[in-house]
Amino acid sequence: MNVDVLVIGGGNAALCAALMAREAGASVLMLEAAPREWRGGNSQHTRNLRCMHDGPQDVLIDSYPEEEFWQDLLKVTGGLTNEKLARITIRGSSTCRDWMRSHGVRFQPPISGTLHVARTNAFFMGGGKALVNAYYRSAEKLGVQIRYNAPVDSIELDNGRFVAAHIGKERIEARACVLAAGGFESNRDWLRQAWGQNEAGEWPADNFLIRGTRFNMGVLLKYLLDAGADSIGDPKQAHMVAIDARAPLYDGGICTRVDGVSLGVMVNRNAERFYDEGEDFWPKRYAIWGRLVAQQPGQVGYCILDSKAIGRFMPPVFPGLKAGSLPELAAGLGLDEQTLMRTIGQFNAACRDGTFDHAILDDCRTEGLIPPKTHWARPIDTAPFYAYTLKPGITFTYLGLKIDEHSAVHFGGKPSANLYVAGEMMAGNVLGKGYTAGVGMSIGTAFGRIAGVQAAKAAKAASTGGKATQQGVELAAV
Ligand SMILES: Cc1cc2nc3c(=O)[nH]c(=O)nc-3n(C[C@H](O)[C@H](O)[C@H](O)COP(=O)(O)OP(=O)(O)OC[C@H]3O[C@@H](n4cnc5c(N)ncnc54)[C@H](O)[C@@H]3O)c2cc1C
Repeated sequence: MNVDVLVIGGGNAALCAALMAREAGASVLMLEAAPREWRGGNSQHTRNLRCMHDGPQDVLIDSYPEEEFWQDLLKVTGGLTNEKLARITIRGSSTCRDWMRSHGVRFQPPISGTLHVARTNAFFMGGGKALVNAYYRSAEKLGVQIRYNAPVDSIELDNGRFVAAHIGKERIEARACVLAAGGFESNRDWLRQAWGQNEAGEWPADNFLIRGTRFNMGVLLKYLLDAGADSIGDPKQAHMVAIDARAPLYDGGICTRVDGVSLGVMVNRNAERFYDEGEDFWPKRYAIWGRLVAQQPGQVGYCILDSKAIGRFMPPVFPGLKAGSLPELAAGLGLDEQTLMRTIGQFNAACRDGTFDHAILDDCRTEGLIPPKTHWARPIDTAPFYAYTLKPGITFTYLGLKIDEHSAVHFGGKPSANLYVAGEMMAGNVLGKGYTAGVGMSIGTAFGRIAGVQAAKAAKAASTGGKATQQGVELAAV
C-alpha cells in the first residue's frame, strides 16, 4: 500500500479534505467520477459561502455573529439539526477564508439583487468553477494525485475499518479514506422511489430537473448504508428550488433559477395560489419552492409578475412570457382564464396599502386572503405582465451518513477508525430540512477540512503501527 489517504469525490468537500491531508504530510490520491472537463460536482455551480464574522471583513459588511447564524439554521431546519456539528460549521466558516485564499480562491462583493446577502455571504470571484479550478491547481502543485473518470463502485470494509475502494475489478488500498461523493440527487430511480406516487397516481420525481452534476448517483451512500453505516436524514428531504421549466435535465446551474417569486404571485395548473410568496426574505425561502411546486398537480407552478417587479430580481437566462393583459397571459400559459382572473382579482383586492421595500420585511400584505402574502404584496395590475413556468429543481439530497465532530463514519454507534465523510454525504447532520443560502459550502468546507486532518492522522497512526485515535485533535485549527 503506498497511499496514506484516499479521497473519493472531486468537489469542494473532497478538495478541502485532499488539501488538508496533504498539508498534514499525507500522500493523497483523489478519485473523481467525472471526466476532467466536468470535474467539481455541484461545487462548480456555486457562488458563495455563508460566513460568521464579528465585524466587517474584506468582502463582508457589518457582522454576522455565531448566535445569529445558529438561530437562522435553527429556524430553517425547524430544529432538525445537530447543534454541536452546526456550531462547528459556523465557527469553521469564520476562519476558513484565509486558508481558501492561500489555495488561490478569490472573493468579491456580491451583486445587488433579491438575495440580500452582502452581510452574510462571501462570493467567489469567478464562481464555483474558479474555486474548484484554484483548488485543483493547488492540489496538483502540492503533489496530490488526481484521477478522473474514476467512479468508485464499492468499498471494502473490515469491521467498520476502510480497507480498499473498488472501481470495477481494480482494487485501491489506502490507510484512510474520505468519502465526499455527493448526495443521490442525480439518481432519478432513487428519487422516484423516495418520493413515491401521489394521490393522483403521479410519480412527482419524474418531473424533477437536476440543477447540478449528473455524477452524484449516491452509489457509495447506498453501499455504505447497506453495509450498516449509521444514517441521518430523510430521503425525501433536499434542497429544491423552483426553476425555469425549460432548464436542461442536468447542470442548468443558477441561471435557471427564477428569483421573482416574492415580487409576484405563484399559481398552480388550476390557476390557484398555494403558498405565501412573501413569507420571509428570499435567501431563507427560495429553497422551499421546489418542494412546494413538487406537491402541485403536474409538478408545475407559474410565477406571475407585473412590470413593477422588473429590474428588482436577477434576470433568469430564459426570458419570461410577456403579455399586454392577464387574459393574454392565461392563454399563453394554457391556464383557465376565468380562474386566473378570479385568483388575481381576489389577490389584488386583498392587498393593503403599505410602504414597499424589498430589502426589509415590509408592511405590504394581504388581508383576509388564504393563503396570505405577508410582505411585498402589491396588486398585479401594471402591464406588461410576465410569467415563468417553473418545475422542481433538485440541488442536493439530505439523506446521509451520521458523523461525530471528527467527521468519522459510524457503524452501530461506533466511529470508524479510518473512514471519514464530508459534504453532501453528511450535510443532513446539520440540515435535517430547509436551507439558508451558502450553508452547503460552509458545511463542505468545515467538514472537508476536518475529515482531511483526521484521515491524515489515522493514516499516520496506521503506518506507525499505532492505533488511530480521535483524541487530542486540534479542531480549532480547522
Ligand atoms: C446550481 C447550484 C448552485 C449552488 N450554489 C451554492 C452556493 O452558492 N452556495 C452554497 O453553499 N451551496 C451551493 N450549492 C450547493 C453546493 O453545491 C453543495 O452543497 C456543495 O458543493 C457540496 O459539495 P460536495 O463536495 O459535497 O459535492 P459535489 O461538489 O457535488 O462533489 C461530489 C463529487 O463526487 C463525485 N462522485 C460522485 N460519485 C462518485 C463515485 N462513486 N466515485 C468517485 N467520485 C464520485 C462527483 O463527480 C463530484 O465531483 C449549489 C448547488 C447547485 C447544484
